[in-house]
Amino acid sequence: MKVLVTGGAGYIGSHMVRTLGEKGYDIVVYDNLSTGHKDSVLYGKLVIADLADADRLDRLFRTENFDAVIHFAAHIVVDESVREPIKYYRNNFVNALNLIEICVKNNVNKFIFSSTAAVYGIPEKVTVTEDTPARPINPYGASKFMVEQVLKDISLSSDLRYVALRYFNVAGADPLSRIGQKYREATHLITVSLRAALGKREHLDIFGTDYDTPDGTCIRDYIHVDDLIDAHILALDYLSEGNGSRVFNCGYGHGYSVREVVDKVKKVTGVDFKVRETGRREGDPPSLIADSSRIKKELGWKPSHDDLEYIIKTAWEWEKKLHQAGKPAS
Ligand code: UDP
Repeated sequence: MKVLVTGGAGYIGSHMVRTLGEKGYDIVVYDNLSTGHKDSVLYGKLVIADLADADRLDRLFRTENFDAVIHFAAHIVVDESVREPIKYYRNNFVNALNLIEICVKNNVNKFIFSSTAAVYGIPEKVTVTEDTPARPINPYGASKFMVEQVLKDISLSSDLRYVALRYFNVAGADPLSRIGQKYREATHLITVSLRAALGKREHLDIFGTDYDTPDGTCIRDYIHVDDLIDAHILALDYLSEGNGSRVFNCGYGHGYSVREVVDKVKKVTGVDFKVRETGRREGDPPSLIADSSRIKKELGWKPSHDDLEYIIKTAWEWEKKLHQAGKPAS
């Protein structure tokens, strides 16, 4: 089976490529290396090109006979999306639309899409099912939800079938530390905390301590990247068996507050780094937790790393390796 992985040189995409490679899939990675890295691509062929280059993409589809596309390539920083909405709508929406159109034109009818819990905005209930109304509150979430809508409509008028996976807070790294998050400008809580523990940052800011949660800080559902990759493999099998389009949440169904994560990072690293309590970050819902019963029931998804300590440990091993190699600097 030949699979196109867009964004396969990035954090989650590179874990996908690793697993597909280990399972013997034929892989082509399409990545402009804007945030991805060549050496994160452990298997397959890497095409360094931009999704905006529809001609290049179309040529690729005509020379390679793809069976499926897994579309990771996107911008993912929420507050940047508020400052630069055009950048997000262009890359996350327009480029995805081009890609989907090229799939339809070339009869590639299996599509897996990286969606996000950000489509829910600030939900009325903390635990969200896929039927909770999508009301994104920033261009990042909106651009992702627009792609879901396009997929839905195109799947009704063509042979295209898709699975949209709504990721909650993805963290952790390959257990052998071959790959992991490599963003120069880390924004995610666990990575920022680990960099504070490594002394690469002076401190960690806690964005808001006055939320309506038990300890006043936001609660999130952190999921290990490898469990998320398993969900993609199951989605690929599901589409390959001829099943129809679905949307699934990917999270563990329980959450941790910012303070709990910070305490766990301190425990795992053994470093009591400096923490500052600052104001709220714009657009943060107080709590966001996945109801993942649908993917468990329909795809038989069984997470194996539902353990915050394991998530942080794998991320810590990776972060130490990365900084020893002197690579990123935040
Ligand atoms: N957060 C924080 N300090 C940081 C980064 C994040 O307090 O340096 C908080 C953030 O406000 C949110 C939670 O940690 O409540 C998770 O944020 P992250 O950016 O990791 O993921 P998001 O939930 O925004 O996708």
